[in-house]
Amino acid sequence: MKILVQKFGGTSLNTAESRRRVADIIRAHRDEGYAVAVVVSAIGRRHDPYATDTLLDFLKSVNPDNSPREQDMMLACGEIISGVILSAQLSAFGIDSKFFTGAQAGVHTDGNFGAAHIRNVAPRAVMECLQEGRVAVVAGFQGVSGDGELTTLGRGGSDTTAAALAVALNAECIDIFTDVDGVMTADPRIVKDARLIDALTYNEICQLAREGAKIVHPRAVEIAMQKGVPLRVRSTFSDSRGTMVSDRWESGAEEVTIRRDRLIAGITHTTQISRIRVEKPVEDTRGEAELKVFKSMAQAGISVDFINVQPEAILYTVAAESAHRAAGILREQGMEPQIEADCAKVAIVGAAMTGIPGVMARVVEAFHEQGIPILQSGDSYTNIWCLVKREYMEQAVMALHAKFQLAD
Ligand code: ADP
Ligand code: MG
Repeated sequence: MKILVQKFGGTSLNTAESRRRVADIIRAHRDEGYAVAVVVSAIGRRHDPYATDTLLDFLKSVNPDNSPREQDMMLACGEIISGVILSAQLSAFGIDSKFFTGAQAGVHTDGNFGAAHIRNVAPRAVMECLQEGRVAVVAGFQGVSGDGELTTLGRGGSDTTAAALAVALNAECIDIFTDVDGVMTADPRIVKDARLIDALTYNEICQLAREGAKIVHPRAVEIAMQKGVPLRVRSTFSDSRGTMVSDRWESGAEEVTIRRDRLIAGITHTTQISRIRVEKPVEDTRGEAELKVFKSMAQAGISVDFINVQPEAILYTVAAESAHRAAGILREQGMEPQIEADCAKVAIVGAAMTGIPGVMARVVEAFHEQGIPILQSGDSYTNIWCLVKREYMEQAVMALHAKFQLAD
């Protein structure tokens, strides 16, 4: 049995018209001889009635401080609604299907509410459904812990469910259906001439996803990569071929093309970042201050990024939602943190940037030409990232996209 796992995001299910398209897509693949397991996200975006954020807002309006256990049950409702609706829609179109919650589909996680990790997938029930010739519709983003509690996987969790299920079912391919044509050289909402990337290596898409290209969750890519299941990112609304992610060698009759990572695959951005700066006392030459700062952040479970320890100051970023708490903790320890709120991180992401001279020079040139101040920068083998004020973010992404001629 050739199996396909197809994941449909929130915007693919929110109108009768789009649900019809989804049903047509599923039908077309069944006609090609595939057994199809479908993974769904909740329907719509914040303010749509059954979207995850709407459900969360509702719960918080009753009580802002809920137990993570109850909150997870609320959050998980979105995917249950959307899965039941899609299943009903498929039946109405004469496609026999069965709906599964995460637990029913055998998605077993740890007990970390709100950000659970999938431990294993036991896909027996889903497999039986496929063997009966039916479509299996599975609620994404949720699972069950060892002690039987319902858990959710965190943002982008449905992508992860799809990848884990595909690996467990030994699927031929994972299709991530969304509202854009595929992975582009930058977010098309920001860069109008962003180009569709028709093929990527796992390494490249993983870097893009980790640096903020929210089109697919990095964890999903990691899982697909472990078993080498090919992954396609495609649009529900167009017939574009999308982006193919695979490390398989393309072999013709006489030669094999070995894929190589590009110098630069794309530009990414992340918002809702605050930068913290703490001055170091002149007499502190043994690193007492950084010890205090990073130990206290660790104890409070606040994750830190963009760390830059200088002789006179310590700089780092935290998620905007943790900034207030972080500052309070530092003040309790007698420090005087300065908070730069509303920052954004813009990155150029490649996978083969190592040792290529002149990349940073072009980054700096792009910012200089636009008069965008760089608050901080950093780099790795695969990325160069810059911290800017949020108001410059779009401009910075566009400038880098143009400077590296990614539209051509
Ligand atoms: P879904 O609900 O289908 O999972 P998401 O909102 O999670 O959809 O992801 C799709 C969105 O990702 C697109 O609408 C697009 O604005 C955004 N995006 C960010 N970076 C990129 C990129 N490099 N290529 C394509 N889309 C991107
Ligand atoms: Mg998504």
